[in-house]
Amino acid sequence: MDKIKMTTPIVEMDGDEMTRILWQMIKDNLLLPYIDLKTEYYDLGLEYRDQTDDKVTTDSALATKKYKVAVKCATITPNAARVKEYNLKEMWKSPNGTIRAILDGTVFRAPIVVKGIEPCVINWKKPITIARHAYGDVYKGSEMKIPGAGKVELVYTAADGTEVRELVHNFESAGIVQGMHNINNSIESFARSCFNYALDTKQDLWFATKDTISKKYDHTFKDIFQDIFDAEYENRFQEAGIEYFYTLIDDAVARVMKSEGGYIWACKNYDGDVMSDMVSSAFGSLAMMTSVLVSPDGDFEYEAAHGTVQRHYYQHLKGGETSTNSVATIFAWTGALRKRGELDGNQELAAFADKLEQATIDTIEAGEMTKDLALITTIENPTVLNSENFIKAIATRL
Ligand code: NAD
Repeated sequence: MDKIKMTTPIVEMDGDEMTRILWQMIKDNLLLPYIDLKTEYYDLGLEYRDQTDDKVTTDSALATKKYKVAVKCATITPNAARVKEYNLKEMWKSPNGTIRAILDGTVFRAPIVVKGIEPCVINWKKPITIARHAYGDVYKGSEMKIPGAGKVELVYTAADGTEVRELVHNFESAGIVQGMHNINNSIESFARSCFNYALDTKQDLWFATKDTISKKYDHTFKDIFQDIFDAEYENRFQEAGIEYFYTLIDDAVARVMKSEGGYIWACKNYDGDVMSDMVSSAFGSLAMMTSVLVSPDGDFEYEAAHGTVQRHYYQHLKGGETSTNSVATIFAWTGALRKRGELDGNQELAAFADKLEQATIDTIEAGEMTKDLALITTIENPTVLNSENFIKAIATRL
């Protein structure tokens, strides 16, 4: 059989621990036998990040700007324990944070829906994709404890020295105060990433804030989204047969619960933080969530939403058997291959991505799955497979 040819490479970002083991198994069993795989390889494993003073992370993000499509394995974000464990020169920053800052992107998280792993919200039939604005608001806030009576004001000092003041509160006793900000450029990038991704995946886009209460702060988010939509996207949405829908955050939450899914829900930073965990837990499993970083320029970096599954890795190192779920990592690869296929006009490659996803879903729906899914499935007497045999079962169907 002739292997599928590729014209442009995908940026491949290797990672750590158990997901690094799965990464190689996926390539060996599901990709290399069928595709003449062209990748530009970056080793984001912690040892090599340390050796290169984390330059490899920056290089991989710059390569993503060049080739437009990347696939990333889960990586360790070092903390004090990891600095000791790996004898690191420094507590390097989160690679995802570094890559996101360079691409100025928005993260979209979506569950992989299969029969037999049922969401606890029974009317959710299709995935709900959450887009989180990952800049500012309370995450870059400054706070004070107010010890007693006194006045708190917001003061803006313009470049020419002129001041504008706004009273926050006249305290009569002790209390608390918080100042936070956002930047129009960042909100605009967020809006464009969301509109582009809605067009890309042909799904409606919902956005919600509390603009009735926050008449300047939240209202600015609402206005920026609407202005960009009207000026740049309205016609394209009409052609694609999709909608942009704005509502209040409380109304959005109520509607989401009653909906059947199948749309993108764009959230401000805090809402996205909270709602993405609600949605992923309600859909069943962190191991079945995909994540894609989309830049306003149309660069795409695909990954699994979960981490490196450290506990399984230590088991694996001791020679023990593992049953680690590789589905989200497989879907990271299929997302990248399909996007590469679309951008290069390589239909064979895009079709292969569809087939690999279908083979993965069929395997689970036939009752063959890893232990994490066997514990929550509605399928009776599932067959629990180890990490490698699950991937081989998919290869057999493929
Ligand atoms: P984790 O996602 O690795 O694990 C959280 C829990 O979910 C564990 O109980 C694990 O057993 C289970 N789980 C997750 N994915 C699974 C899978 N595919 N199959 C079976 N079970 C699965 O998160 P953690 O334990 O908090 O972090 C471990 C490491 O991963 C940390 O060093 C952290 O920095 C890193 N991390 C990386 C990313 C990323 O690269 N995007 C995201 C989160 C955490």
